[in-house]
Amino acid sequence: MTCREFADFMMDYLSGELPSESRALFDHHLSLCANCRKYLTSYDETVTLGKRAFDDEEAALPADVPEQLVKAILAARRSA
Ligand SMILES: [Zn+2]
Repeated sequence: MTCREFADFMMDYLSGELPSESRALFDHHLSLCANCRKYLTSYDETVTLGKRAFDDEEAALPADVPEQLVKAILAARRSA
């Protein structure tokens, strides 16, 4: 698996929708690649922040969350 493929799979991985064989490849890449570990951690934190904000309508999104990412999270929530 390449870093690019890893990034493509990441949303499915975090939502638990990745088939177990893809998940194994994903985990393997994660164990080898520090860059993707960092990327996954920051992505996961952003998603968590986003969910918290959406759970509480009063909560403001952190200013440093990219608008594109917020839109992606909203789209993922709509399809869930
Ligand atoms: Zn990687």
